[in-house]
Amino acid sequence: MLFSKMFIPTVKEDPKEAEVISHRLMLRAGFIRRLASGIYTWLPLGLKSLRKVENIIREEMNKKGAQEILMPFVQPKELWEESTRWDKYGKELLRFFDRNNRELCLGPTHEEVVTDLVRREIRSYRELPVNLYQIQTKFRDEIRPRFGVMRGREFLMKDAYSFDVDEEGAEKSYRDMYDAYTNIFKRCGFRFRVVEADTGQIGGSFSHEFMVLADTGEDIIISCDACGYAANLERAEVGYPDTVPHSSKKGYFKKVDTPGQRRIDEVSSFLNVSPGELIKTIIYNTDRGVIGVLIRGDREINETKMRNLLSLDYMELADETTIEDVTGGPLGFSGPIGLKIPLYADRDILYMEDFVVGGNERDVHIINANLGDFTAEGFYDIKIAREGDRCPRCPGTLTSTRGIEVGHIFKLGLKYSKAMKATFLDKNGEERYMVMGCYGIGVSRIVAAAIEQGNDENGMILPAAIAPFEVDVLPVNSSHAESMELAEAIYRQLLEKNIDVIFDDRQERPGVKFKDCDLMGIPLRVTIGERNLKEGLVEIKERDKKESIRVKKEEVVRRVEEYVEELKRW
Ligand code: ATP
Ligand code: MG
Repeated sequence: MLFSKMFIPTVKEDPKEAEVISHRLMLRAGFIRRLASGIYTWLPLGLKSLRKVENIIREEMNKKGAQEILMPFVQPKELWEESTRWDKYGKELLRFFDRNNRELCLGPTHEEVVTDLVRREIRSYRELPVNLYQIQTKFRDEIRPRFGVMRGREFLMKDAYSFDVDEEGAEKSYRDMYDAYTNIFKRCGFRFRVVEADTGQIGGSFSHEFMVLADTGEDIIISCDACGYAANLERAEVGYPDTVPHSSKKGYFKKVDTPGQRRIDEVSSFLNVSPGELIKTIIYNTDRGVIGVLIRGDREINETKMRNLLSLDYMELADETTIEDVTGGPLGFSGPIGLKIPLYADRDILYMEDFVVGGNERDVHIINANLGDFTAEGFYDIKIAREGDRCPRCPGTLTSTRGIEVGHIFKLGLKYSKAMKATFLDKNGEERYMVMGCYGIGVSRIVAAAIEQGNDENGMILPAAIAPFEVDVLPVNSSHAESMELAEAIYRQLLEKNIDVIFDDRQERPGVKFKDCDLMGIPLRVTIGERNLKEGLVEIKERDKKESIRVKKEEVVRRVEEYVEELKRW
């Protein structure tokens, strides 16, 4: 490709709207342009990278026997009613009416469509297993679209769906996808980690997320270096001491006045005790009625763990009126003693003595409270994990790092096949439900994640497998005929060797060309300068190295070939 002929609108200044480095660099290097909130156009350079990512994904999916299809972007309401997700999905699902007043939505994911397809077409165990995937545009009306294509509203996803005759088959399909994903992310050059994840909106029995490690990631990964346990924050379990102290203390608690002191920090400084000596009593409205959750004052409740513990579909903080009704006191003064609703406590509380709780009365707290003073339904792991906590699997200590979720695999089980009656006839002619799995990759997010992981003050540092070009052939002085001739010759020969090369044939100052090459993250630069040429030499420089090497002009093509091959190895 000739640089002069390509549409690459680069920008010198940092765009103000971009908060993270990948977004800034994608705008500056002319990869993307914003159309509306969370909606972007991919320009030639960005699209080249995007297509490379797609192809890596395709190759690895095909290797596992998955077959590519392309499903519609627009989906009818009826299918979503069958799966019962029409009511559950919320505002991320963009809904609209057609001219015949039929209600439709833009696909945020395709379980319904693919299950409908397979239930119509597959009848017998002989036709199973099958794994169908697509690389297609999704729309999710995200609350906070941000960071460019990292969290867009319209974005490109690879989604795959497997259908098996039994659990064993489904587990094999899941493992295949786990392996395919591992290969895909290795080939993309990522430093990544696989973590246990919650199943959320999609539902199902278990799941893993593939997280690219990056300080700017929106996700928090909790992991244990000692045993390898890793989970996302939502899911992360915490270890508690093995022994439970038995305290028989009860009955000598005392009411104290705490006028206007509602928050933990206020109460603890007012009573001169540390937040860890307080217990928070949080009142929730749930589909099991009003419940209270108890947690040590310096910790937070993990609502996902709570939902899973009690199999709740609905769980929301109670409003002030409900709190007054069930506790008798206003918000900020709730406590477990005398409370008539089911109480669920974090296990930390088992190890506390003489603690402070709310008095269920305005401006009153209780001190010297103990376990014997109230009854809880039980003590569970329901706090948000944090660095320094004990590992749930071994005596090790948990650490916390940040990541970008690029892939997510779910074992769905019978969730959709039951709801939508996707059945087949087994060997004995009996009708059974298909066992499903689903597997997503954020294709457009991968490009952003790669930039987030590889950059410096001059621009992107992209892995050769997904950089828009592998090599930039750059003649320093465009008016020097000999340089231009050699550059063009090298360019043509590299093209013949199937190397993805751009020739900077522009009549531009050298500084401009060097800057653009660095900005675009091209892994290898071949510089043809007058001075080197006098000695018959050409410079080769890797984007992420300070030093360059000089090679004989006759050897450039061979050396570049070797470099590219080496850079693409993983
Ligand atoms: P997140 O927690 O980031 O919202 P999710 O759990 O909603 O992700 P899935 O439904 O599992 O995501 O979608 C599969 C993949 O699609 C994700 O792993 C992610 O890489 C990508 N993805 C999800 N939402 C977006 C988005 N708004 N913009 C770009 N990529 C996305
Ligand atoms: Mg989401």
